[in-house]
Amino acid sequence: MKNQIWMALIGSVVLTACAKEEVKNMDTNKVVKTEAEWKEQLDDTQYRVTRKKGTERAYTGKYWDHKELGIYSCVCCGTDLFLSDTKFDSGCGWPSYFKPVDDKVITEHRDTTAGMIRTEVVCTKCDAHLGHVFPDGPPPTGLRYCINSASIDFRKSDEPSTSSAKE
Ligand SMILES: [Zn+2]
Repeated sequence: MKNQIWMALIGSVVLTACAKEEVKNMDTNKVVKTEAEWKEQLDDTQYRVTRKKGTERAYTGKYWDHKELGIYSCVCCGTDLFLSDTKFDSGCGWPSYFKPVDDKVITEHRDTTAGMIRTEVVCTKCDAHLGHVFPDGPPPTGLRYCINSASIDFRKSDEPSTSSAKE
């Protein structure tokens, strides 16, 4: 009898450990492709910006002045990144948002290139370079995610909200 209880206890501990491992693996399920595969999938500008950390010229991208309701996703892997109701007119010539759909979809890196200390933002799932985040945005976050149009795709949605974006 005692043995059976012990076996049941050990069994449930092992099961719990396995379940945790699975969730962890799901979260870090990266999209990894070769340079050749990215080149094949993306146009020249998209490739240069997302895979080579390039920057499109201000006021030249297709979304800096885009005001439709919808969802902006990673051009490389399709992960939803920003909602139109968090987009604001920053006057900087790039699409700007005050927060991502979820903190986990964006990863931040310290960037000391170009003689500045900035915070680079990349897509967590595929490491696509998206742009930079600056501490001069509007409420409620005070952040400005300054994103290259070349890094994102847009799809229309009548009710772009954080909950519907996750469907
Ligand atoms: Zn991505």
